[in-house]
Amino acid sequence: MNLKPNMYKKNIYEINYKKLKQLNIQYLFFDLDNTIISYQDDIPSKESIDLFNNLKKMGFKCFLFSNSHSKRLFKVKDILNVDIYYSSMKPLNKNYKKVLKKYDKNKCAFIGDQIMTDVIGAKRNDLFIIFVDKINDNEPVYTKFWRFFEGFILRNYNKKNILVKGKYYD
Ligand SMILES: [Mg+2]
Repeated sequence: MNLKPNMYKKNIYEINYKKLKQLNIQYLFFDLDNTIISYQDDIPSKESIDLFNNLKKMGFKCFLFSNSHSKRLFKVKDILNVDIYYSSMKPLNKNYKKVLKKYDKNKCAFIGDQIMTDVIGAKRNDLFIIFVDKINDNEPVYTKFWRFFEGFILRNYNKKNILVKGKYYD
């Protein structure tokens, strides 16, 4: 499977949303943990609240698409005023199927910080995926488990110059 993300950016604030508009993308599905907030936080920053307000003004419909449990998601949902898909079990297809039943896949973009969940989940469904650097290294054991495998892929992609840490593109 070709896992090269469609875009790679330092964080959600650096994404070229205008370009996404030009690509006719309307629905943005954000991972939560280490993409919007760190695992240590449970409420979004002012910066991310502003971002989501701007995205709405630009005409995007935004969602949280997270493996995290509902309690954590509902708190953020109310602050950012977005819809949520929780306990998504990425990279499994469960919630991707739900999304694709409702929305045109060509108008969807997924955004996340993990290869093994966010990127593989999107790629196996042939979806547009934007990879971002994780917010910090302070992660729970189950995420570290995924990072271990991610390391093999990233080292291999780094050698082939396919995906190099800090070499952002869109
Ligand atoms: Mg994440």
